[in-house]
Amino acid sequence: MEKIELDLQAQGISSGYSEFYNEKMANIQPEAEAAIGSPLPWDSMPDVDQLTQLEKPGYLPVENGYAVADDGSMAVAVKTLMPNTTPQMWDWWFGWHSAHSDRYQLWHPGSHISAKWEDGRDDVCYVGRNSIIKEKIGKMTLSAAIQFKSPIEFGFPYRTVNRPDNAVYICAKIGHPKLPFDYGTLVHQVRVTEEGTEMRSRFWMSGRYVSARQDNLLNRASAEILQKVKALPREFAQDLLRHCAEEMNHLASILPDLYKQYATQDTVGISGATTHHGDAKFEEAVMATLFNKVPVKQRPASIYEPKTVEDIINIVRYAKKEGRRITITSGGHSFSANFLRDECLLIDMKHFDECHLNVENKTAEAGPAVGGSTLMKALYKHDLFFPAGHCIGVCLGGYLLQGGYGWNGRKLGIACESILGMDIITADGELIYADPDTHADLFWAARGAGAGFFGIVVKFYLKVYDLPKYRAVIAHNFAIKHLEDVYRWAHAVGPEIPKAVEFQMVMSKNVLNFMGPGIEAIAPIFADTKDEFEEAKHFMKNSPIAHKATIKTPAINPGIDMLYKTVMSHYPENHCWGVDNMWTHAAIDDLMPHIKEIAETLPPAPSHFLWLNWHPGNLDTDMAYSNEDNIYLSLYSCWKNPADTSQYGNWASDMMRNMEPHATGIQLADEALHKRTAPFMAEENFKKVEAIRAERDPGGLFHQWHSKPEYLG
Ligand SMILES: Cc1cc2nc3c(=O)[nH]c(=O)nc-3n(C[C@H](O)[C@H](O)[C@H](O)COP(=O)(O)OP(=O)(O)OC[C@H]3O[C@@H](n4cnc5c(N)ncnc54)[C@H](O)[C@@H]3O)c2cc1C
Repeated sequence: MEKIELDLQAQGISSGYSEFYNEKMANIQPEAEAAIGSPLPWDSMPDVDQLTQLEKPGYLPVENGYAVADDGSMAVAVKTLMPNTTPQMWDWWFGWHSAHSDRYQLWHPGSHISAKWEDGRDDVCYVGRNSIIKEKIGKMTLSAAIQFKSPIEFGFPYRTVNRPDNAVYICAKIGHPKLPFDYGTLVHQVRVTEEGTEMRSRFWMSGRYVSARQDNLLNRASAEILQKVKALPREFAQDLLRHCAEEMNHLASILPDLYKQYATQDTVGISGATTHHGDAKFEEAVMATLFNKVPVKQRPASIYEPKTVEDIINIVRYAKKEGRRITITSGGHSFSANFLRDECLLIDMKHFDECHLNVENKTAEAGPAVGGSTLMKALYKHDLFFPAGHCIGVCLGGYLLQGGYGWNGRKLGIACESILGMDIITADGELIYADPDTHADLFWAARGAGAGFFGIVVKFYLKVYDLPKYRAVIAHNFAIKHLEDVYRWAHAVGPEIPKAVEFQMVMSKNVLNFMGPGIEAIAPIFADTKDEFEEAKHFMKNSPIAHKATIKTPAINPGIDMLYKTVMSHYPENHCWGVDNMWTHAAIDDLMPHIKEIAETLPPAPSHFLWLNWHPGNLDTDMAYSNEDNIYLSLYSCWKNPADTSQYGNWASDMMRNMEPHATGIQLADEALHKRTAPFMAEENFKKVEAIRAERDPGGLFHQWHSKPEYLG
C-alpha cells in the first residue's frame, strides 16, 4: 500500500497525542485476514435494508467478507475483537476524534489525512453532525462527508439508544463533502463481550447506494447518472475491508488509555447549539425563546438546542449526574414564560419541527416545534384538518400537553384527545413510545399536565380529520354602549349554539382598529353538511341584537391564511403580555359588574377580553385534562414598552382575582400561575398526575407549573 509521508510537526500532532501515535500497526485479526482473499457471492451479504439484523443476538452468516454486484454496488462486513474497551469508549471516540486531524490520524497512521466537523466546532458529539474527512483507502484518496445519524433513523428499535452500556450503534451516511449526494451507508455495532467489546462493521457503497441527499427531481436525476458512472472502483470493497480491519484493531489498542486521558464528563456535547449564562449572546438567546417579551428575572444556566434524541438523552443524563433541573420549550408561547427558571438547563426543541402526513390513514407525525398553523396549512392541501390552535407560532409541544383549544374544538374535542401516541424521553434518559397500551401512565399524564409534565416529548402521532366542507365566519361588531345587551344575549344563547360553531367575543378599546371601544362577536363555523351549516348560522342570523351591530358580515369563508391573519391582529409579536383566565358557569347577573369593570379598565388595544362559548358536555376521555366549563373568560393585557410593565402587568390577574368567586378553575393555555394560583385540573386527576410523577421523576428532574393550589399539594 502506498504510504503517505506524515510529518508529525507539519501535521500538527500535538505532543499530547504523540504518545498515542504509532505508525506500526498490528496485524489484522485472522478472520478478517482470511476474508480478504476473494469476494463472496453478492446474495450472501445482507442488503442495507436488513441492517437492523445486527441487533439480534449471536452472529450473522457473514461477519467478515465483501461482495461486489454487477452494477458496482459493494457490501463489506468486518468483525473486530476489542479487548479492554467498552461501548462508551467508542461512543466517545466518534465524538472526539473528528475535531482535529491529529486525533483522526491516531486511528490509522499513514492513511488518515485530515478530519474536521463541518460545523467548525470542537466539542465531543457525533450523532447529527457531519465529519469531513480525507483518507487513503487502497490506492484511492477519499474525501467524504460522514454524516452521523441516530440508529433510530436507520430503523433500529428505541432500546438501541437507551442501553449504551450493552451496545452502541454508530450509523452514518457517507457522501460527497461538497456535492449533495451520498454513496454509502455504514453501521458499526460495538457490543459487550466477556473480554471487552467487539465491533461489527457493515458498509454498503457505490452502485445502487448512490443517492441524492435531498430528494428533489434534479438531485434524483444526478444520482441516477452517478449510479451508472459507478462511483468507486471494484477493488475498493477489498481495500475497505482491509482498511477497516486495520484501523479498528489499531485503535482498540490505544483507546482505553486515550479515553482515560481525554474523556471528561463535565460537559454535555450535543449536535445543536449550546449557550451558557455569561456567553455574549446569552441574553439574545433567552429573549429569542419568548413570545411574551415582558421582563422576567429568571435565567437558565444553559440553553441547549438539540437536533437528535441522542442530544436530549445526553442532556438528561448530564442533568441527573450534576443534580441540575430541566425545563423545555417548543414554541415559547407560554404567557408565563414557564420554562425560564433560575439555574435550569433549558432544552429548546426548535429543531424538532418535522411533520409527515399519512393522507390515506388520516394520521400525522409531528415534532413538538411544529406550529399548529403549519400543520393546518399542510393538512388543508389534502382536504384534511386538525383542531390546531388559533394563532401562528403556538407549537404543538406546549399546546397539546396542556389540552389544546383549537379550531372546531367543540366538535372534535380538546386537541390532546387526537393524540394517538408520543415519543417521550423520560427522566431516566430513555426514549420510549407511549400510547393507551404502552407506558399508559405517561400517556395519560401527558394529555393535560401541560408545563407540569415530567418528560420530553420528541414526536406526536396524531389522528387527523376530513376538512369540514362548509366553512365560514360571521361577525357582528358592536359599540361598547351595547355591552349589557351583547353579553346577556351571548350568555342566554350559549347553551343552544351548535357544536360546529366556536362562538367567541373580543372586547377591546379599538375594534377593527377604527371603531373605538366595542365588542366583536365572531362565529367561526366548521360544518360537514349543508344542514349542519344552516343550523350553525341560525343564531347569528336571527340574533335579536343584530340590528344594534355597527358592522355585520355575512357568512364568508376567509380561507385558512386569512383566518390566522385575522386572529393574529389581536396577538402581535414583540410585545409584553399580562394574561389570566377562568372557567365559569356563573349567572350573567353575577358576571355583569365584572364585565363592566373590565370594559372601564381595559388597557389600550390590542389588549382584549375574550369570551369563549364552550359548553362542553361530558368529557369522555380518561386523561389528566379534566377542568372545563360552559364559558371561558380570558384577559390579555398587551403593551409595547417593557417600562410600562408596572402599569399593565398585573391588570389581568387582579381582575381575575376579583372574579374568583364565580370561577371553576382555569385553563393552562393562558395561565398566570406565577402571579395567581388557581385549580387547573380535577382534584382526583391531579393526585394521579402527582402519583405518576413520583414514580417517573422521583428526583424532581423536571420543573413543574409555577404554582399549584393548596388542595393539589
Ligand atoms: C398568541 C398565543 C395564542 C394562543 N392560542 C391558543 C389557542 O388557540 N389554543 C390553546 O389551547 N392555547 C393557545 N395558546 C396557549 C398555548 O397553547 C400554550 O402557551 C402552549 O403552552 C404553547 O406551546 P409552545 O410549545 O408554543 O410553548 P412553550 O412556552 O414552549 O411551552 C410551554 C410549556 O410546555 C412544556 N413543553 C413544551 N414543549 C414541550 C415538550 N416538547 N416536551 C415536554 N414539555 C414541553 C414546557 O413545560 C413549557 O414550559 C396561545 C398562546 C399564545 C401566546
